[in-house]
Formats: sequence, C-alpha cells, structure tokens
Amino acid sequence: MTHAARRLVVLGSTGSIGTQTLDVVERLNSLGFRIAVTGLSAGRNAALLVEQVERFGPRVVSLSDEQGARELRARFPDLTVLTGESGLLELARLDGIDVVANALVGAIGLAPTLAALDLGRTVGLANKESLVIGGELVLASLREHGGSLLPIDSEHSAALQCLQAGARSAVRRLVLTASGGPFLHRPESELASVRPEEALHHPSWRMGSRVTVDSATMVNKAFEVIEAHHLFSLPYERIDVVIHPGSAVHAFVEYVDGSILAELAAPDMRIPIQYALTYPERADTGFPRLDLLAASPLRFEPLDPRTFPAFHTVLEAARRGGVAAAAANAADEVLVERFLTGEIPFTGIALGLERVLDHERGRKSEESLSLPGLLRVDAWAREIARSLAL
Ligand code: NAD
Ligand code: MG
Repeated sequence: MTHAARRLVVLGSTGSIGTQTLDVVERLNSLGFRIAVTGLSAGRNAALLVEQVERFGPRVVSLSDEQGARELRARFPDLTVLTGESGLLELARLDGIDVVANALVGAIGLAPTLAALDLGRTVGLANKESLVIGGELVLASLREHGGSLLPIDSEHSAALQCLQAGARSAVRRLVLTASGGPFLHRPESELASVRPEEALHHPSWRMGSRVTVDSATMVNKAFEVIEAHHLFSLPYERIDVVIHPGSAVHAFVEYVDGSILAELAAPDMRIPIQYALTYPERADTGFPRLDLLAASPLRFEPLDPRTFPAFHTVLEAARRGGVAAAAANAADEVLVERFLTGEIPFTGIALGLERVLDHERGRKSEESLSLPGLLRVDAWAREIARSLAL
C-alpha cells in the first residue's frame, strides 16, 4: 500500500509520550509510511533533543529556555531554534504541517492545541489538560475551522474504536477503566504517610511524574472523564469508571440494545499513539500483544470514594461547567509538585483540591471562557494552591 507523505510536529518530544511517538514514527516509516518529523520541542532536556535532531532531521525545534537553545544553535547551524511558549505556538503553526502531536504536560499545552486547530490541522492529543481546561474552546475551534482531534490515551483510543460500532444516540454509556494505581485497597488511614517514591511506582504504566501521581489520586481518571465528555459529545451522566487492575480492557461502550463492546490491548501506549497516527488504518509494527489466557480472569470493581476522594471533587467541579475544571487542573499541578518535593502529604492533594474548588465556587466575578480568562483562573488557582497549609 502506498502511504501519503505527511509532515509531523511533536511537542514535548523528550517526554514519555513524546519519545514513544518518535519510536512509532520510525516503525511506521520502516513499513512504508512516509512521516517526516518537521518540528520537535523539549523542555530542558537539550541532550535528548540533540539526539532526536540527529535521528529525525527536523527543520525547527523549540526549547523552554535560552541555555539549551544556545547549545542547539551552536551544534546545528541550519536548524531554526525557538524558545518559550511562543516557540511552541510557532511550531504548532509551522507552514506545511499536517499533524501536530501534543505530548506536553500541563496547562502550557492548551494554547498550542488551539493554535493548530485554528489552522484546521489534525492534532494527536496526549495533553489532556487542553480538553480539561479549554474543552469548550477546543470544540468551538474544531467546529469553526474544520480541524480534527485524535486522542492519544489508551482509554480514549479504545472508546473511539468502540464508538464506531453504532450511532452516538444508541450509546447507553461509555465506561473507562482505571487500573487503581499503586494505592488500590490501601487503608485510608495509611494514605497520609505514603511517600513520593511509592506514588511514582505505577503497577501497569511507565509515565511522566505528574500523570503517575494523578493516577494514584485518580485525578487522572476524573480528567479522562472530562476529556471523553468533550471528545465524544456525551453527557457526564453517560460516562462511568470501573477499576480494572489488569489494564487489559481500556474502555467499554454499552449500546441501548444491551451489547457491550470493549477494546483490549497490552498496556503499551505506543498502540494508541500509533492508532492516532494511522487512523483509520492499522499497521503491524510488532508491538507486544495481549495474551488473553495470561490476562484471565478479567476483574472489575467499583471505585471506592474513600480511597480516591479527589476523583469526585474534580468531577463535581467539572460538572458545574465554566472555569472550574481549569482551576482544578492548575491547583493539581501545584499540589502534585508540592507532594513530590515533600512539602505536603499525599492526602494534601485531595484536600487542597477541595479547598481551591470551594473558593472557586464562591468567587463572584465569572471569568469568561476565553483563553485569557482561563489563564487568569489558572494563575489564581495556582496562587491559592501554593499558599494553602495542608
Ligand atoms: P512527561 O513529563 O514525560 O513529558 C512532558 C514533555 O513536555 C517533555 O518533553 C517536557 O520537556 C515537556 N515540557 C514540560 N513542561 C514544559 C514547558 N514548560 N515548556 C515546554 N515543554 C515542556 O509527560 P508524559 O507522561 O509524556 O505526559 C504528556 C501528556 O500526555 C500529559 O498530559 C499526560 O497526562 C498525557 N498522558 C501520558 C501518558 C503516559 O503514558 N505517559 C498516558 C496518557 C496520557
Ligand atoms: Mg489514560
């Protein structure tokens, strides 16, 4: 089969999703896909970016600060080296790009997602914060400019696949699975003293530190429900979560006739990354396969609100609509960092979220759902989350 040539930008190329995306690109190209990596971006890891430039030969790169940028300019005289948030925006808007894979972590990912969609581009979206904070803006841009959004997350990739089996109006509910993270079944009384190393040890997935801690508090799963609500136009009442420790099933779609479709795959993020890059085609690039016998029996259980109070706190805020989810994300970014540096206990994350979201509810001046309005809420929520004694 001949594949159309496509130009790709990877934002956050040095992270967990970014490096796996580049691995997928190499594998696809060895099968005859013609994906050119035109732009890459890193935070501070200039050394890894240097390696990636040598391997993929992009035209433009961006780093978060000048120090790394100088190193790259000295080494590659023909390369355009940008910096900061404006560098990310320029990459998202680069001439001739077909796909932008957004693998940035945090609120910083929203503006580049919007910049690419405003030009009608296809965005492969791992940066869940884009939809958590700016879901309405992202959807408005899609409607207005005709771009498209392909999820890079195991649950949403699974949902996208299962939703192709019937009309959206025939969907009774979408169920996302959650592995339960490292603290499943841990008595509530022990959670206050768990250490960052324990929270960073996820049983099924190797990921960046923020999303790993978010998987331990289940804030990640609340964010994924918000993402699914926007991505698939489903009301919150029709999205559920079940704990499934094996991480074999990634999502289910139950139709009105009682049929349930599920997607199962080995817990390897390169599978959903590849689906976003080849959609709606598929390719055999040799990823691990799920052994159904070894995965048996498949176990499911309800999510215990005593172990995971932050899940409900964040979802309740999101259901209120407006800017509450943006406040939740900003507060969580700060609280996770404070937990990882030993400043607050693990349970301080859920408590801090509750406090910030209580403040948010009580705020009189409604911020508008514009990018500047959301960024003001983001700054305000960070400030409070930083100052809370927890
Ligand atoms: P990570 O921390 O491993 O990588 C983040 C990337 O963003 C790095 O390249 C880093 O340099 C860059 N970055 C961070 N801050 C930056 C800044 N201020 N300016 C410029 N660049 C910056 O994170 P990750 O685990 O790859 O996650 C990326 C996104 O994908 C997150 O939104 C996460 O929730 C989502 N996600 C990750 C996984 C996973 O398996 N890792 C699974 C599902 C979804
Ligand atoms: Mg996920």
